[in-house]
Amino acid sequence: NAGLGSWPERRLTISPHRDALWFEGKTTSYAGFAERVRRTASALAGLGVVPGDRVAWVSGNHPSALETLYACGQLGAIWVPVNGRLTAPEAEYVLTDAGASIVVHGRDHGELADALRDKVPAVRAWVAVEPPTVGGTESLLYEHLLAEAAPEPRDLPVTLDDPCLIMYTSGTTGKPKGAVLTHGNMTWNAVNQFLGLDFGQEERTLALAPLFHIGGLNGTVNPTLLRGGCAVLVRRFDPGEALRVIEEQRVNSLFAVATMLDEMARDPGFRTRDLSALRAVCAAGAPVPLPTLRTWLDRGVTMQQAYGMTEAAPGCTVLDSADAERKAGSAGKPLFFTDVRVVRPDGTDVDVDEVGEVIVRGPNVMAGYWNDAERTATVMIDGWYHTGDAGSLDDEGYLYIRDRYKDMIISGGENVYPAEVESALLELPGVLEAAVIGVPDEKWGEVGLALVVAESDADLDADGVRARLREKLAGFKVPQHVEFVPGLPKTATGKIRKPELRARYQEDKR
Ligand code: AMP
Ligand code: MG
Repeated sequence: NAGLGSWPERRLTISPHRDALWFEGKTTSYAGFAERVRRTASALAGLGVVPGDRVAWVSGNHPSALETLYACGQLGAIWVPVNGRLTAPEAEYVLTDAGASIVVHGRDHGELADALRDKVPAVRAWVAVEPPTVGGTESLLYEHLLAEAAPEPRDLPVTLDDPCLIMYTSGTTGKPKGAVLTHGNMTWNAVNQFLGLDFGQEERTLALAPLFHIGGLNGTVNPTLLRGGCAVLVRRFDPGEALRVIEEQRVNSLFAVATMLDEMARDPGFRTRDLSALRAVCAAGAPVPLPTLRTWLDRGVTMQQAYGMTEAAPGCTVLDSADAERKAGSAGKPLFFTDVRVVRPDGTDVDVDEVGEVIVRGPNVMAGYWNDAERTATVMIDGWYHTGDAGSLDDEGYLYIRDRYKDMIISGGENVYPAEVESALLELPGVLEAAVIGVPDEKWGEVGLALVVAESDADLDADGVRARLREKLAGFKVPQHVEFVPGLPKTATGKIRKPELRARYQEDKR
């Protein structure tokens, strides 16, 4: 077995006594982790799981994510993490599309299991990681199954080209699609991350993002488990609790999305907690705003902005910590084994600072979407994954993500990148959050609508905001409409749900 399933076995040989996991006050060594994974594999095999079967996992962060993932790797089965925030119909879509035969669910997902039990007949067994708080009384109990299962090693012929997991992407556009990541993708991502991040041998890394998302799982957690460090897990993100755990567990590194770093910087614990062990913070999903970046740098922490996506397992580029301020706003340079280009619609490379589509290739990039050759063919072209992100390269080859293509507004023949307008809005005093979308307009075809969340005591009105923006941006970039809203809808990783906003506001303005 050359795959992920062999990692705990190799660690059992090399470093059985080192810490592998910490969760809610309990530390597990690599020897303990290897035994739990073996038991999980036996339990799943006892439920009839054979190579190629799909085993779904839906829960808040919990060691069972890693136990079931690695156990699937030992069985040649495919792990399917499901976003724990999905509604029953959304989860039904994912389970049905993946053809899952087993669902392992968390204590908060008993009701979800009950709602889906009859809807997804292909599922043979529902297993509760912990006794559910509500519902789920018909589910089998994970700990019972593990207690009865033999901790036997197994050696199935799993290759690096076999599928390891199917991860459904956050679904900011259309129906979620399952990116199939192989054991090779997982391995090369971990190697890439290790070469690109400020990581040490005895890493203690904190997973703040959900493990059902690629950043939470593969940003630093799986790379750390390859290297023999400890993955510190928290059930869900809470800024004060995160800071407490960093102090108590002497956390060295963490992976977070930009909004989490901002929330932590605003928490009183940011000043009072001992963060001296914390060396490296890796942020991805969106650029970290400069003020947030500076607040963390002032705290003596090195910052690494990264860029990636589910389809690339996820790492594509990372900004060296030495460049954090000099190149603030950049996503950095390609990870060691990954090729990154920015191209025009005709496929030729852009000039310096010209915006084009970011395309990536490498051993970390997925083979394709699950059972969807058609959608795969639209994004995988000659081995290059077309990200749909609009980016540019500066004169030193640093990548800047400017926007997503589908998010571009065309106003009077001029292209407007909402991200640029949003960052200008965020610089205005009193603006907490902002989203810009295109809405139909008789004269210009499309114009911008800015949805602004303002501080409660802010003295802002639409004309004032537009006047301030006109000082910063070309006239065509200034949104025609500015509306104040109490909040913006977000995905589990903190991205603003633009499609939802478009659906809500575009009809209005027609
Ligand atoms: P997901 O597959 O859900 O992880 O989302 C991946 C997408 O997040 C990418 O295609 C980008 O649009 C966006 N993204 C990730 N990292 C960055 C970054 N550093 N800057 C800007 N956008 C990013
Ligand atoms: Mg995605």
